[in-house]
Amino acid sequence: MKKINDDKILNSKILIVEDSIINAKIIDTYLAEYGFETMYAESGELTLSMLETTTPDLILLDIQLPGIDGFEVCTELQKSERLAKIPVIYITAMTNTEDKLKGFAAGGVDYITKPIHEQELIARVITHLKISKYQDILEQEVDDRTKYLQLQMEALNNEIQEKMVLTREKQYLINHLNSIIDSTPSLIICLDRELIITQWNSKATEILGVKSEDAIGKNIEVFYKGPFLDQLRESLKTERVITFNQENGENTVIYPIKSDRIPGIVLRIDYLNS
Ligand code: MN
Repeated sequence: MKKINDDKILNSKILIVEDSIINAKIIDTYLAEYGFETMYAESGELTLSMLETTTPDLILLDIQLPGIDGFEVCTELQKSERLAKIPVIYITAMTNTEDKLKGFAAGGVDYITKPIHEQELIARVITHLKISKYQDILEQEVDDRTKYLQLQMEALNNEIQEKMVLTREKQYLINHLNSIIDSTPSLIICLDRELIITQWNSKATEILGVKSEDAIGKNIEVFYKGPFLDQLRESLKTERVITFNQENGENTVIYPIKSDRIPGIVLRIDYLNS
């Protein structure tokens, strides 16, 4: 037996479709010498029914057959995802370009002309088996990568979902906290270290006539001027509680509460009825 030095195509199954039994036997003998496993069909109809249950690695397909011809068989194969992958090499006595183009259009990959020469047959068979195997390997690699990417995408989606749940929980807590802050009779303003307002409750809106969305992000100096601002700065600097009477006669207490959790100061002003 003649050896093929490529384990990827070793033991490949080849289907010979040929109505001439003599030709089929010659081809079979050549292929058998290289250890290929062969199957045989003598008509297009038989080929199609055979391919319902078996998937050869390559098909040697005679064009001129009784009944449906080689071109039609090849066209039929292209309709099936499984069968369209099998390389088809036509066997033909026809050598004109028009027929060859017709064969390629039908899905065939190559031609072998009669009379069959052993070396040419084997060379073409080996070449197309190799191409087909490498295509399989590439497709598998693409599949594997696609699957891997899909898994990555799923993991990312899950992460996003989890973060969305956390964000919703956080938003709930913020709303909860805001409603508590809004329900106190004290004015509560949170300031960062640069005295920029980060929180502004409804008492602050009531006293200063400014909505929270118009106050947050602005410097406290925009809303407080004069002696009160000095008292505020003093209180923030010393972190001491300061009690004083405002110009309007209201008794005011400033509580600067330094927070470990938020960078800045919570300013609480209680308006005591004098
Ligand atoms: Mn024929």
